Amino acid sequence: LCFGECRLDEVIEEALALVTDALLHTSVRLVVEIAENLPTVQGDEQKLRQVMINFIANALQAMKEGGTLTVRAYRASLRGDAAAAIEIEDTGGGIPPQVLRNIFNPFFTTKEEGTGLGLSISHRIIEQHQGEIEVLNREHGAVFIVHLPAFRKHP
Ligand code: ADP
Ligand code: MG
Repeated sequence: LCFGECRLDEVIEEALALVTDALLHTSVRLVVEIAENLPTVQGDEQKLRQVMINFIANALQAMKEGGTLTVRAYRASLRGDAAAAIEIEDTGGGIPPQVLRNIFNPFFTTKEEGTGLGLSISHRIIEQHQGEIEVLNREHGAVFIVHLPAFRKHP
């Protein structure tokens, strides 16, 4: 992993740039809410972008009939220290309990052509960044919430 100070707003914009054109031809609406005071994090930009892409791809695959993809980033805390939080929320079918239990296992997939690797790789990457991933069902669909420790000049 190559570590440096990363701006998550840029990481998110880069990940979204890959899908915005494709979204024009679908009935998925995109909502992006990035807080002004979002802290930078210590990390590998390319790996973090990959995590965002994995979550976004899953969200879109859960909304084949359309819906809303919401991406939020805001200042939060993690284990008592400053952190950045990123949420990727969809209005798809949500995640049943038996899927939720296995969701981070390598090769676990419910898709005919799935690899089941996206979330296990994402989990690993976030662990390597001393972060945490949470998965929840909301009233409509699922949300993945990532917390990453805020960048510190002298950690
Ligand atoms: P894949 O996408 O190849 O199946 P992932 O590791 O990305 O592998 O995801 C594993 C499984 O988790 C998916 O097959 C799906 O059942 C479930 N899943 C992931 N994201 C979502 C989501 N946003 N909504 C509903 N189910 C999801
Ligand atoms: Mg996937």
